[in-house]
Amino acid sequence: MTLKYCQGPKCHTYHTQDRLKGMKGSKTYQTRRRSSLLMGEFCDARCYYNWFNKYGTMAVDHFGRITEVKHLTEDNAWYKSYDYRGYRGEEDTYHFVNSITEEQRPLTKVQYDDTNYTINTGE
Ligand SMILES: [Zn+2]
Repeated sequence: MTLKYCQGPKCHTYHTQDRLKGMKGSKTYQTRRRSSLLMGEFCDARCYYNWFNKYGTMAVDHFGRITEVKHLTEDNAWYKSYDYRGYRGEEDTYHFVNSITEEQRPLTKVQYDDTNYTINTGE
């Protein structure tokens, strides 16, 4: 089990008992280490927020800022739906619905449960 340091830039400045470490006379508040971290990098939501507050705009500029409208077209507007009226057969229970055209297409339960299964063609 590998421990990773929280990436929150202010993590070590919060006065909690679990951060206070070291021998008497040389104690310091220290960055938290965890095996499981929020978003893989942060000990809690405050540290996540602090990171984004300091670096978020730089990260967006680095990885690509959205500067024009994006469109979700009919081709990619399918979502999975479930009909709660259980007396119907499987083919009538699960289906894709197109949120733009409102067209419906039948779906098996296996396809419904498969989070990778889609008829959308892109993003
Ligand atoms: Zn932290």
